[in-house]
Amino acid sequence: MSGHDILDLVKQRNPNEPEFIQAAEEVITSVWPVLERNPEFIRLRLLERMLEPERQISFRVTWLDDKGNVHVNRGYRVQMNSAIGPYKGGLRFHPSVTPSVLKFLAFEQIFKNALTGIPMGGGKGGSDFNPKGKSDDEVMKFCQAFMGELARHISHRLDVPAGDIGVGGREIGYLFGAYKKIKNEFTGVLTGKGIGWGGSLIRTEATGYGLIYFAENMLQEKKESIKDKTCLVSGSGNVAQYAIEKIIHLGGKAVTASDSDGFIYDAAGITKDKLEFLKDLKNNRRGRIKEYADKYKCEFHALDAKHDHNPLWSIKADCAFPCATQNEVNEKDANNLVKNGLKLLGEGANMPTTIDAINILIDHGVMYSPGKASNAGGVATSGLEMTQNYMGTKWTSEEVDARLVGIMKNIHQTCLAAAKEYGKPGNYLVGANIAGFLKVAKAMQAQGVV
Ligand code: NDP
Repeated sequence: MSGHDILDLVKQRNPNEPEFIQAAEEVITSVWPVLERNPEFIRLRLLERMLEPERQISFRVTWLDDKGNVHVNRGYRVQMNSAIGPYKGGLRFHPSVTPSVLKFLAFEQIFKNALTGIPMGGGKGGSDFNPKGKSDDEVMKFCQAFMGELARHISHRLDVPAGDIGVGGREIGYLFGAYKKIKNEFTGVLTGKGIGWGGSLIRTEATGYGLIYFAENMLQEKKESIKDKTCLVSGSGNVAQYAIEKIIHLGGKAVTASDSDGFIYDAAGITKDKLEFLKDLKNNRRGRIKEYADKYKCEFHALDAKHDHNPLWSIKADCAFPCATQNEVNEKDANNLVKNGLKLLGEGANMPTTIDAINILIDHGVMYSPGKASNAGGVATSGLEMTQNYMGTKWTSEEVDARLVGIMKNIHQTCLAAAKEYGKPGNYLVGANIAGFLKVAKAMQAQGVV
């Protein structure tokens, strides 16, 4: 049995699932040396077991729009691995959602959650429902119909979903209300809840803040910091907004943001005031990013589907933080970033960089952190929300933020230590995969063949 054999098996078992195969390949390549050192892991087929969801649910979601038209969507929950804790991972509402996308996200989530040091297993879910252009009432009706089925499969001790693309505070509110009504209980079954009803302070900010804390740790290894660094950010949703906010706090300059229509390039830098405008535009008015360029008279570049690269990544900068979606940085983009002297790429999104692009970055000495390490601050703070819910207590912003800083520092050290131990010093990808894998593998080994 070799890593190639396992990858072949994954390909056979999951045809038409390119995203899942991509995530599997990345992890198999990194962790194979661990299995060679521990033949018992091979005999117990631990890696193959991790690659097979413990349970995968697909269900019909039927709902009525404001005009009384009936719509049918697909809902899913992938319960990937529960060796170290209840399933935990977000819900994504986006037309691009497929079983492949959710399986890749759930698989990544296993290792990410293990890295946080908080006992959480891996899961992910969502729907091909598109919240864009829907009224609040329509989003509410969809969320209620979705939870009508999902409620049978989750609980605060079994599976605790959160937000992801297309699922923010509004959707979590509707989903929580529906769950409470169906189950007749008030428990912390979802995270990312409102502050007045069980949510944790700093959860909204956590993924973006954590990403920049992680980047700061990486830069400190080279006696540098984010201060005065020019940064490219993609996306303009939850992760992007708070990554930009923390870059500004720490004295860096963020010059881009994007949505699925295109990106803005504000060479003067996104200031606190401009960021407040962006938050209001995206979170309250649900508008398009072009409005930012119109208001602040900066460049707007429409996204051209025919382009074989994204011109956002051709802008000269020190650091790049992809915070939109998977596979948004390809080989060409990586070459452009390298050509412009990029020092660091930190993933805020999940798997935004293709395998070829990662290899180009690493080969050219760009510091690179995989999302499972650098965006883990979101789920870690969800873990803190669960702890506060179990304890029936509420921590202050300062307390949660201090824990987040500590968790990101620990993940950073854990990655570096594992990478060094396996002969790849400074390789955060290998370090994150190995450290996450080892923790889950040991738990599965102890729990027997189940
Ligand atoms: P949001 O829905 O808040 O924002 C997503 C942003 O990315 C929007 O600007 C959206 O533009 C853009 N986007 C989404 N899909 C595409 C696409 N196919 N092409 C171009 N642009 C796109 O999501 P989040 O900020 O929560 O999530 C962003 C990424 O971070 C995802 O990969 C997610 O899995 C990851 N992540 C999120 C965490 C969290 O706590 N929220 C935790 C860890 C990871 P538009 O508005 O036009 O759709």
